[in-house]
Amino acid sequence: MTFRQARWEEPNIWDLAPPRAADAVPAVSGLPERLRRRTPLQWPELSELEVVRHYSRLSQMNFGIDTAPYPLGSCTMKYNPKVSELLARRKGAADLHPAQPESTVQGALELLWRLERLLCKVTGFHEVSLQPAAGAHGEWAALMMVRAYFREQGLSAQRTEVLLPDTAHGTNPASAAMAGFTTREIASRNGCVDLDALRAAVSDRTACFMLTNPNTAGLFESDILEIAEIVHGAGSMLYYDGANLNAILGITNPGRMGFDVAHLNLHKTFSTPHGGGGPGAGVLGAGERLAPYLPVPRIAKTGRKFRLDYDRPQSIGKIKSAYGCFGLDVRAYAFAVSHGEEGLEHVARRAVLNSNYLGQKLGTLLPRPFRPLVKHEFLLSGAPLKERGVRTLDLAKRLLDEGVHAPTIYFPALVEEALMVEFPETESKRTLDEFAAAFERAVKDTTENLHAAPRNLSVGRIDEVRAARVPLLSWKDLRNAAPKVETPPAVSMPR
Ligand SMILES: *Cc1c(COP(=O)(O)O)cnc(C)c1O
Repeated sequence: MTFRQARWEEPNIWDLAPPRAADAVPAVSGLPERLRRRTPLQWPELSELEVVRHYSRLSQMNFGIDTAPYPLGSCTMKYNPKVSELLARRKGAADLHPAQPESTVQGALELLWRLERLLCKVTGFHEVSLQPAAGAHGEWAALMMVRAYFREQGLSAQRTEVLLPDTAHGTNPASAAMAGFTTREIASRNGCVDLDALRAAVSDRTACFMLTNPNTAGLFESDILEIAEIVHGAGSMLYYDGANLNAILGITNPGRMGFDVAHLNLHKTFSTPHGGGGPGAGVLGAGERLAPYLPVPRIAKTGRKFRLDYDRPQSIGKIKSAYGCFGLDVRAYAFAVSHGEEGLEHVARRAVLNSNYLGQKLGTLLPRPFRPLVKHEFLLSGAPLKERGVRTLDLAKRLLDEGVHAPTIYFPALVEEALMVEFPETESKRTLDEFAAAFERAVKDTTENLHAAPRNLSVGRIDEVRAARVPLLSWKDLRNAAPKVETPPAVSMPR
């Protein structure tokens, strides 16, 4: 062969590549003419060091949980333990193909089956499906289940309305509309559902009442059993938005509170990542009446064998490819079993303690609407700052200069100039104290400084409308937008 002949030629000792056969043909010759590139490839002409510095600097221009806390209420940016990342990346988990025969993925199916059983226990529900890829996806699927239920009763033309409290997360009304329902808002009283308003609103047109408990004001709806009675009394379903479940883990659950169906966000309560709009896991749980409508496939166990079960005639069908977000399920399972039953309850108690501790401290700086004892998150109102021309947005921007992320702002809408703060169980007292000190410096800063913030970041105030409507997401976008957009200067961050 030509290779052998080539080996006996004088070797070029500087050449790492094996000697090329003299008659080797360029690989491109196998490609059809029309697929070959006509212009030379634009290789970035940079050294390794330049590339490393570029990406290291970029990573510091953004906020990340690895460098600073994220007190975003209603989003629960929880720490994702590194060990869960390692587990999810093991070959046995990461290299599976969704079309592999079931006999070769028994371990994966067992993990999913165990996670389902565990979540049944956590939610107090009959059955759980891991299919939905996000909280909103789970909400929509649950409402499709409610729809299917009423269709079977011959009531789908009548039960067309979904009720929501005015504290509801924005995805709730959106999901209801996507599922073909009209929505109606129920006013709250002192941050909780006003029972009289609910009684007046439910009717034989109501398909479902969507509620999160604790709600997005961080308050536990202690009238929940009465709420369930009112809703069920009207023949309607009660839906639990479980994105705030971390506050009640192991203490109570939606099943006990009388809910019929729920979504949980594993990417909130069970520490799986969901940054950058990536996939989540908005698993669904259902009580006896709605369980038959859960999406397929379900995971079934016969003897010691696991399989995907599509034989559920009442199911709303398939809503996600393959098994759902398997990598997130691996992480969630690792989180749950490493905590154990007692550990999960500790997660809830610690999150509630953190929230109340910080709430007390920040409550000396800004008013706190509603009652002082909260669950996992609390609200502040920046309204008094308006007297000196300072808005909650200015305060949020000023916090960035302190090296901490701002809380959620302007949500829920029923609180003027709202700030919504949440520190999950993984944050220490020291971090809370540091945050409180930073918050105090920000509130007490001059109006001029508050208006000028952020000063220490690589970009100042951005045109948020333009950033959302005309996002510049690649270097090509940036190049085409030049000279209007400045490339952020290289700065070192004050952290
Ligand atoms: C995050 C959240 C949702 C939506 O979950 P996504 O995964 O972002 O779609 C719904 N309700 C509440 C209360 C939430 O905090």
